[in-house]
Amino acid sequence: MKLLKFYLVFIAVLIAQPSFAQKDSTLVFPDSSKVMNDLYFLASDSLQGRKTNTMGNEIARKYIIQRLQKLGVSAYVQDYTQSFTFGKDMISAVNVLGFIEGYSGEDFIVISAHYDHVGMKDSTKIYNGADDNASGITALLSLAEYFRENQPENNLLFAFFDAEEMGLQGAKHFMQSVVVDTSKIIMNVNLDMVSRGDKNELYVVGTYFTPFLKPLITEAAKDKSIKLLFGRDEPKKKPNWVTASDHAPFHKAKIPFIYFGVDDHPDYHKITDTADKINPDFYLEAIRLIKEAVEIFDANLGEIVYGK
Ligand SMILES: [Zn+2]
Repeated sequence: MKLLKFYLVFIAVLIAQPSFAQKDSTLVFPDSSKVMNDLYFLASDSLQGRKTNTMGNEIARKYIIQRLQKLGVSAYVQDYTQSFTFGKDMISAVNVLGFIEGYSGEDFIVISAHYDHVGMKDSTKIYNGADDNASGITALLSLAEYFRENQPENNLLFAFFDAEEMGLQGAKHFMQSVVVDTSKIIMNVNLDMVSRGDKNELYVVGTYFTPFLKPLITEAAKDKSIKLLFGRDEPKKKPNWVTASDHAPFHKAKIPFIYFGVDDHPDYHKITDTADKINPDFYLEAIRLIKEAVEIFDANLGEIVYGK
């Protein structure tokens, strides 16, 4: 009888929950259906692997811009786009830069993820790049949505870099360009492959250089199911990811960075890096964790690093 009572209460709770969730949908973060929708679109065959200077890359870019417009995130540069060429073949590439103004000060936190991937092989094999890096782009869009509703202290610049796969070209160009005074960038948070929960672990790279960030990240992770692994940033130790993605040009400019990413997996840079391999529970938890880390950086970094 007791057991039956328990079940009845349990069922009542189950029934009650959906209506509670729907009551105040603004409290739901991240919005799982939007997240999975973005991710599946960006990793779909129709984008043909999003290689720089291809139609699929352009479709991804337009999709990102459309989403930013819909979210009410401002364009940091005209039409959100920063075009550039690189290499001896003068390959064309385009960064997308969105902006949320902070309520105090003129400093910037740059939150970045590359939207290009490696394209196709033999005109039949598509490298979907779901984890690398549709996952990072989608997480950025989700963070932009959150901070649009919850104004940060510092300016947040959402950088969707192009041509990472061709040598971090988008991030390099961004740092060389004059669109933002780099002395005002207090931090870079870079996301590259954040959705594969194969081991339920997420690497945090960069605290070797900025140990003061470690307790802030630990705080963000304290009620999360994901295991954080600090490291892969010590000089002369392998593997070393300090120059592995778009955070490298920031680090070179002596700007504190944190790179979030999962370990390499068997589908890394293979045609099998597809959306169905992603573990939504892990991915959504990773987005939650990263959002909270950014919130904590935003509230504390100025004081810790710059005494303001
Ligand atoms: Zn990548």
